[in-house]
Amino acid sequence: MANFDKWIANRTLNFDSSGIRKMFDMAANLKDPINLSIGQPDFDVPQPVKDEYIRAINEGKNGYALTQGIPILREKLQAEVDQNLGHEDRDVFVCSGTSGGLMLSVLSLINPGDEVIYFDPFFVMYPAIIELTGGISVKVSAYPDFKLDMQKLEDAITDKTKMIILNSPSNPTGVCFSNEEIKGVAELAAKHNICLVSDEIYSKFVYDAPYVSAATYNPDCIVIDGFSKTYAMTGHRVGYVHGPKKIIETMLKVQQFTFVCSPHPAQWAGAVALDTDITPYVDQYRIKRERLLAGLADKYEIVKPGGAFYAFPKLPDGVSGEAFVKKAIENNLMVIPGNIFSDQDSHFRISYAVSDEKLEQGIDVLNRIA
Ligand code: PMP
Repeated sequence: MANFDKWIANRTLNFDSSGIRKMFDMAANLKDPINLSIGQPDFDVPQPVKDEYIRAINEGKNGYALTQGIPILREKLQAEVDQNLGHEDRDVFVCSGTSGGLMLSVLSLINPGDEVIYFDPFFVMYPAIIELTGGISVKVSAYPDFKLDMQKLEDAITDKTKMIILNSPSNPTGVCFSNEEIKGVAELAAKHNICLVSDEIYSKFVYDAPYVSAATYNPDCIVIDGFSKTYAMTGHRVGYVHGPKKIIETMLKVQQFTFVCSPHPAQWAGAVALDTDITPYVDQYRIKRERLLAGLADKYEIVKPGGAFYAFPKLPDGVSGEAFVKKAIENNLMVIPGNIFSDQDSHFRISYAVSDEKLEQGIDVLNRIA
């Protein structure tokens, strides 16, 4: 057998996914778990979207698509972006999921040694893609209230800062940053000539106020969005990016020689998905959020989430995330320890994108083990 340690590139060594694997290993024997760990909607892909995917396959849309995306989808997205933002210099392209768009943005913009600022807690992929490109993660704590502290952010900026990644509504907290916070970050990035990347994958799941993109306040902001969550199409791999033409051209060049294109039939499905009204789903999730917050109010401290389908309660005092999750699993419940998404081990993530029945069962267990 070869010495595989010698084969594996150093850039893969500084991040791992063992925490989450450990949790799923622990839960592997559960038969019908109350699974509040899943980061995707519980509704099925809307029927017209499924029909269009199948039609596309049957009608031969199986070859490569244009790198920037099929015209019908790209043009619809461009029209939507133009209407929402009205920026002169803003091009859209279709990528392989939001993950693909995030990877392309760091591949296109980060040189080894460049610093990338994001907020802790954070989406698990950020540290990994930054490591893969030789960048350096600079995390700014958003604890305990998950608000953005502009002073802390400004203090984290150095002459090596290349990028700020913003994610609102946030995974794992569900918290939406306020208009002022978003404006503050957007203007600060512009002032320091830093690329602002806004991960807006949960933009359609907001419950208390209309969504405001960071691009509203920064015309150079690079926005990454996608169809995975909005239309429950996580397996289809369709996302999109919009930003200044020069940056988009670079990202397209990188996409051409890496991902090539987002899956061709899935793009046709995506074009139909854009015509689907998901308001009924958003309304359901708003009700589930209220139920979860009310159900846990006596026993847990929770910052009210304004979007996505997550809540990030504080762990009971003196209990580690691992011990808490183990206890939950012994009670047939799956939740995710907060240290998967954070440098600190003080919270856990609940996804309430589940049936009302499972949600009630989950609330029961959480109250029992608190
Ligand atoms: N960003 C955030 C904040 C996410 O939570 C996710 C999915 N969990 C993604 C990006 C990636 O989504 P996808 O690649 O499926 O579009």
